[in-house]
Amino acid sequence: MKRTEILGKLAPCGLDCSCCASFKGGPIARQSRTLLEALGDYQRMAQKMTAFFEPFAHFDSFQEILRFFADAKCDGCRSGGSRYPDCAAKSCFKEMKVDFCGECKEFPCSRNRYNEDLHKRWLANGEFIRTKGIESFYDMQAGKPRY
Ligand code: SF4
Ligand code: SF4
Repeated sequence: MKRTEILGKLAPCGLDCSCCASFKGGPIARQSRTLLEALGDYQRMAQKMTAFFEPFAHFDSFQEILRFFADAKCDGCRSGGSRYPDCAAKSCFKEMKVDFCGECKEFPCSRNRYNEDLHKRWLANGEFIRTKGIESFYDMQAGKPRY
């Protein structure tokens, strides 16, 4: 995949915005819309199904969650979509004139305040990008769930 296409998918930290539950064009949003459409007016059926499988009593909540996913509106961190206050990378990459932290001369810097898990992922992503290049990194993580 070309770099310009990769930039439409991956955040500066290396995480895949295109697989995020809040990404408007992502598989979670698309498939939630498809499922809502396919379920149609399943509400009444769900009430009957409760006699066989108790979790159907919570069908309303399931549908609400699907609507939440289906209504995703984010264009990705690179477009300013993130409101995560502990992340500097989401805007800092512009200041540093790089596409990814792994391509930045200050990597690994101390500007982010990620939790331990995210910090480890950021380090691993950046190290991979730095040593093997963004195209190889994209191929390595493509198709994997983000969570
Ligand atoms: S908010 Fe920051 S850490 Fe989270 S995906 Fe965006 S760039 Fe990465
Ligand atoms: S200074 Fe840090 S947060 Fe900013 S682009 Fe470079 S590595 Fe990423």
